[in-house]
Amino acid sequence: MNQKSNVIESLQGFIFDLDGTLYLGEKALPGAVETIARLREQGRKVLFVSNKPLYPREVYAAKLTHLGIAATPSDIITSGSVLAAHLARTNPNLKLYVVGEENIKKELSEHGLNVMGEFEDQDAFEVIDPQGIDAVVVAFDRTLDYRKLNTAYQALLKGAAFFATNPDLTCPMPGGGIPDAGATIAALQALTGRKLDLLAGKPSPVMMEVALSQMGCSAEACMIIGDRVETDIQMGQQAGLWSGLVLTGATHLDPDKPLSPTPDWIFQDLRELLELL
Ligand SMILES: [Mg+2]
Repeated sequence: MNQKSNVIESLQGFIFDLDGTLYLGEKALPGAVETIARLREQGRKVLFVSNKPLYPREVYAAKLTHLGIAATPSDIITSGSVLAAHLARTNPNLKLYVVGEENIKKELSEHGLNVMGEFEDQDAFEVIDPQGIDAVVVAFDRTLDYRKLNTAYQALLKGAAFFATNPDLTCPMPGGGIPDAGATIAALQALTGRKLDLLAGKPSPVMMEVALSQMGCSAEACMIIGDRVETDIQMGQQAGLWSGLVLTGATHLDPDKPLSPTPDWIFQDLRELLELL
């Protein structure tokens, strides 16, 4: 542990998951406010990441600020902002057909990307010509309808690229969950037999690339802290970051089921990380 606490002292950047890591519902988790404050006092970089596609970054910034962690939209990346930043850098001229809500369309447009309108003039129940769609972008969409599904399907059949913000089948809500982007991805995969060409959110390496480039940090000088091994920890380890699991959210230790992958640190809650800072 001693040698590892030296590692923590030397790190320059810390990436935090939100739900189950910094807060649960409307409450900051133990040590969250103090840990972020200490890291900032020490001049280290902090970035917050979320796969949850319901809200724009401003909403997360306001929530964190309300909980005592001052944040601006530029302190936060979501699966939507990562997709936008990545496409703006690698493929800025594609014509994108978005199966998603206004949030994601706005995020893509604000990054200078070409977001197509709906094909309102075409019959939603016929084989349409997906005029010039270079890529289909699937995101969380509570306005999903037959017209959108058919347009995306026809475009994918004609060879459009297949992108998505996040692979989650459901989006957790008070009292349960509602269908998320993963459900639409699964429908289009079943229809076309195709796989995604690009996934932006956890556990995609694209999310870590965007995070590191935004913080100006190398992977080995950074640590990701989250409550899920299969997304937060796996994504961080694959990209070469140090990783810390907190037990305040989705993961509970079970002696019969070893964690895979194994995090570099396991903290009961963030107060245990705070002790090492
Ligand atoms: Mg989480």
